[in-house]
Amino acid sequence: MKAVYLDQPGGPEALNYGDLPEPEIAPGEVMLRVHASALNRADLNLRSRGQRGGAPRILGMDVAGEIIAISPEARTNLQVGDRVLLENRVKCEICDSCVQGLDQYCANQQRIGVDLDGGHAEYITAPAVNAYRIPDAMSFAEAAALPLAGHTAWQCMVVQGQVRSWDDVLIHAAGSGVGSMAIQIAKMVGARVITTAGSDWKLERAKEWGADAGINYRETPNLSETVRELTDGKGVDLVFDVVGADVWEESMLCLKPGGRLVITGVTSGARTNMDLSILQGRPLHLMGSGGRTRRSFGDLMKLVNQGELRGIVGQTFPLPDVAEAHRVMESRDFYGKLVIEN
Ligand SMILES: [Zn+2]
Repeated sequence: MKAVYLDQPGGPEALNYGDLPEPEIAPGEVMLRVHASALNRADLNLRSRGQRGGAPRILGMDVAGEIIAISPEARTNLQVGDRVLLENRVKCEICDSCVQGLDQYCANQQRIGVDLDGGHAEYITAPAVNAYRIPDAMSFAEAAALPLAGHTAWQCMVVQGQVRSWDDVLIHAAGSGVGSMAIQIAKMVGARVITTAGSDWKLERAKEWGADAGINYRETPNLSETVRELTDGKGVDLVFDVVGADVWEESMLCLKPGGRLVITGVTSGARTNMDLSILQGRPLHLMGSGGRTRRSFGDLMKLVNQGELRGIVGQTFPLPDVAEAHRVMESRDFYGKLVIEN
């Protein structure tokens, strides 16, 4: 089958497009004909620093397609012909954490497209329990845009951040996959959304998806002042951060007393000289995004199937052009998800 895979780490040119053997279905698994797979920023690190496990590794952490085979041992309601997407994390189901229903801490979890072969291919196999039906009217490209960005944004905004309809929230990186999903989730709940981006066109797009106000961070170094102006001097209840170092101190200054911050990415850098006196007098709650549960993915998919949440497709590419998609990912000049279509 045709696939995009990595032999050696490097630039986008290190991505090989060629023929690999079709995967074999294992007990408990389904096989998909892949119709779409999405890129994530983690793919850039994976490509440039090398992958774990044995080469060649097929990249592609987000996958949508049609079920073409089901292992006889699989306990599932799915049927051949079903249109599905895959949850990225494969849990072992037998470690102490899994048995206790704390599968976010599964000691043996593996990620599709990282520890296991991914979706930039014609076919993929995965545990049946990782496959979720998608609405009939939803395109495969839109479905592939959902799993990682949707689950991460859900974890940060709903599970960790406890977003409420009366909250004012600040969401960094409006154009990123997770940022754009976080805006959608916050608006679905009914919160008021202020968002940041490095270009005005992304802020306009964010407003089309419901954002109430946008701040161009390139033109607004002291964005906490603007956030305070937009909130009658009060600040926001919740900050969603995927940027890290460049906005860290300003993010603290944006928060109300008792405010929450959830960080799930450090695209601008992971180290910062933080003024700790900001925290000294303010009861703030700082959180990492942490592991994600199968239960929360189920909640997300329920809303997807009710038509409450959509995948956000920024641009699509054919399978042979994954390297070009990586270049666009590096440029950050897109809104939502970059999706590979087969
Ligand atoms: Zn486990």
